[in-house]
Amino acid sequence: MLDKNSGSAYRGRLAPTPTGWLHLGHAATFLRAQERCRAAGGTLILRNEDLDPQRCRPQYAHDALEDLRWLGLDWAEGPDVGGPHAPYNQSERLPHYLAAWEKLRDAGAIYPCERSRRELRERVAAPHEEDEEAEPIYPPQWRPAPGTGRDARSPEGVNWRFRVPDGEVIGFRDKLAGEQSFVAGEDFGDFLIWRRDGVPAYELAVVVDDLAMRITEVVRGADLLKSTARQLLIYRALGATAQVPAFAHCPLVRDTHGKRLAKRSDALSLRTLRARGTPPEEVRHLAAQMS
Ligand code: GLU
Repeated sequence: MLDKNSGSAYRGRLAPTPTGWLHLGHAATFLRAQERCRAAGGTLILRNEDLDPQRCRPQYAHDALEDLRWLGLDWAEGPDVGGPHAPYNQSERLPHYLAAWEKLRDAGAIYPCERSRRELRERVAAPHEEDEEAEPIYPPQWRPAPGTGRDARSPEGVNWRFRVPDGEVIGFRDKLAGEQSFVAGEDFGDFLIWRRDGVPAYELAVVVDDLAMRITEVVRGADLLKSTARQLLIYRALGATAQVPAFAHCPLVRDTHGKRLAKRSDALSLRTLRARGTPPEEVRHLAAQMS
């Protein structure tokens, strides 16, 4: 079926990261993603975002799929069912990320960075204190000269950062959160594309995969709104502006103290709710109330 808005078949995705058990906040976002996909008569895919070998565990990926099926989610493509854009585990998609790294390198959009992330954290304050996960703005005076790194054969051994266009306003209209705008160099600075330990950064992997898997709408948590601005810059540098998906960022679920639900808070994990005998329809109801 065709999506009325884009004139192409709707493709949505669920993209859990297996660093812990999924909780009610994930349930709320994923149920919303499924709802929007169904309303458009689209195809839902599941992508396992297990890029970081230090933080991800195969057991959590297994449990996530099991918990999501139990909750009533159903995907047509994924690591467990295959599909035309396999593999659906990010850990198996390195060649795709490397090809994108090469393009960005050739375009002069990225540079190798000798500074460690710790040095950055120690030397520069985060932009907004209230932003729990704010990254410090990478100081422009730390940037190497344009062209640095163009002759690199591989990303190995150093961090690679995206050179952001300082002062440019990056705006987009989010289908749930409304009009958004961020200023490059003020709201966020040069961000990681590839880590010195050989792991591609989230921002790169997610853009590469959303493009490769022909995603037409990204439904995810509002904590990633600013990331969307960074990702729009990557789409542009890859020459893929015409393939940018629509975005629908869901409100974040908070606990009774107003703190964001973290995967650490096992109390509201789907596993725990399941083990306590909570029926899936009750969890769906709870999730709907929270979102
Ligand atoms: N894997 C990310 C997470 O679990 C979501 C990425 C995305 O939806 O773009 O937070």
